[in-house]
Amino acid sequence: MNLRSYFESFLEILYPEKNTCFICDKYDKEIKDKYICCNCNKKLERLTGNLCKKCSKPINNDTTHLCNECKKDTKFFETVKSPLKYTGLVKKSIYDFKYYDKTYYYKLFGSILLDYMVNNNYMDFDLIIPIPLHKSKLRSRGYNQSELIAKFLSVKTNIKYSNCVKRIKKTNVQNQLSKIKRRQNIKNAFLLTNLHIINNKRILLIDDIYTTGSTINECSKLLIENGAHSVYGLTIARGE
Ligand SMILES: [Zn+2]
Ligand SMILES: [Zn+2]
Repeated sequence: MNLRSYFESFLEILYPEKNTCFICDKYDKEIKDKYICCNCNKKLERLTGNLCKKCSKPINNDTTHLCNECKKDTKFFETVKSPLKYTGLVKKSIYDFKYYDKTYYYKLFGSILLDYMVNNNYMDFDLIIPIPLHKSKLRSRGYNQSELIAKFLSVKTNIKYSNCVKRIKKTNVQNQLSKIKRRQNIKNAFLLTNLHIINNKRILLIDDIYTTGSTINECSKLLIENGAHSVYGLTIARGE
């Protein structure tokens, strides 16, 4: 046994979670920095096929490459991408990440998003900003899942991180509302604490799930109206 593998085995005794799947708890020495076993990885459904070039909604073949909503609605972001489909094990894992204190899942989702950014050449940004939680929600949950992922991505990509967007309006739970209600609910929900930092910058917004897009759109509107060059989005998963 060489010194390196000796040291690695020593670390495994100290930190048994290394090489243990985050999702099913199975030990597999191939896991390494992927955080999950290949069985669970296969069960995380990827978002593929024909997608709207703006919001990534699955669409039929269409020469405009836009979904019906993006054809008629104003979107303040350039495009929003998601590597995963919000269904099955993806849905359950995101739920566990947010509501079951599985804070460490940020590494799993962070690395999935990082791979996606690298493989899709989705890297040309000046600033990474997480979608914020209202301070009352932050207090009860203890952490903002999007912030953990945004910081992870910033460290790995060397793109500057900022939390200059704050949520000033306590909003109702978005996924229980209709599309129109969601829009009203999120209107004027955000505030910028630093105008200088966003000026003429290409911004990547990070959120956990994209559903109707009203949250990312409202946040993008604020950034664009205050001098950002352009806004892009990246979420773990997308609903259909
Ligand atoms: Zn597993
Ligand atoms: Zn669209």
